[in-house]
Amino acid sequence: MENCSPKNIVVISDPLFLKHNPGPTHIESPRRLEVIYERIEKPDIKDLYVNIAPRPANIEELLWNHSQDYIETIAQSKGKDIVQFDPDTYAGAYSWDAAINAVGACFNCLDKLITNQFRAGFALVRPPGHHAEYSKARGFCLFNNIALAAHYAINKLGAQRILIVDFDLHHGNGTQWSFYNSSNVLYFSTHQFPYYPGTGSLDEIGEGEGEGFTVNIPLFRGVRDEDMANIYEQILMPIAYSYNPDFILVSAGFDIYVDDPLGGFQISLNGFSIIANYLFDISKHTCPGRLFFVLEGGYNLYGLSEGVATIIKEIGLGQRDKIFDAELSLSPSVSILDTISEVKKIYSNYWKF
Ligand SMILES: [Zn+2]
Repeated sequence: MENCSPKNIVVISDPLFLKHNPGPTHIESPRRLEVIYERIEKPDIKDLYVNIAPRPANIEELLWNHSQDYIETIAQSKGKDIVQFDPDTYAGAYSWDAAINAVGACFNCLDKLITNQFRAGFALVRPPGHHAEYSKARGFCLFNNIALAAHYAINKLGAQRILIVDFDLHHGNGTQWSFYNSSNVLYFSTHQFPYYPGTGSLDEIGEGEGEGFTVNIPLFRGVRDEDMANIYEQILMPIAYSYNPDFILVSAGFDIYVDDPLGGFQISLNGFSIIANYLFDISKHTCPGRLFFVLEGGYNLYGLSEGVATIIKEIGLGQRDKIFDAELSLSPSVSILDTISEVKKIYSNYWKF
């Protein structure tokens, strides 16, 4: 990390992403990004990152993860007032442009990270992506930004092993199915379960070459910071070290925040520092500088903007060397301990704990 510039993180924020408007009463509103963009201008973090421009992904790139017909369907929404794709997923006149630039924003971040000049990247974009499937818009998502980022890292940057960590409240069904048969991408998700979108049970572990490379941690409501710390310590860390990824891509969903209107978790801002520090620590030991976050959900505007700021600050300042004995010493709830031991049992055929 000696060559790190004082601006440690590469960020993409662009007014274009405010123009995706899924309707005046939709909870996934442009206001979500406005509060984040206002927050990252504040003096405690504005010197920690450099802002770069996005670019539109092209059709050939979108085809890595989506069908031709589906891409054309989304393209046809361009310029129209409002088009509905599923019960909660809509596009407005500028949504196509925002969506292809959200994907291209991920690509531009990865291009910067591959130069080893930064500790991490963060694409502060919308629409979100992890529910988008091969030919289906779902859960506010049009194109699967993080899945396409993984394809880009493999197809264009020579990566062979991608670790995707999805800490959004919801399971990333789209991302899981994209790589369900592949060992080139290890998908790790913590999520409220049973809950939308319905996938992410302990039975879903990958298939064929991908068996053991989908790791789902389904969790009841009420998950706290110390629960997450123990899951990362006891499950994510050993798997990640053994997998030894070339890139770590993170679906960063802030709907795990305690006051989120859609979620039942109780993660505080300190919980986001715990998550950031674990991920930063794992990246330092496996793929320094190749740690990339993309925004997914988060609907409490305070938790969302402060959550993003917390991650930028923790990684950008990099002051904490060691992790969270305090949180680890707090006992996780009984149900979390049960889940941890069940996950270890299921995955002991594939990973050492
Ligand atoms: Zn979510």
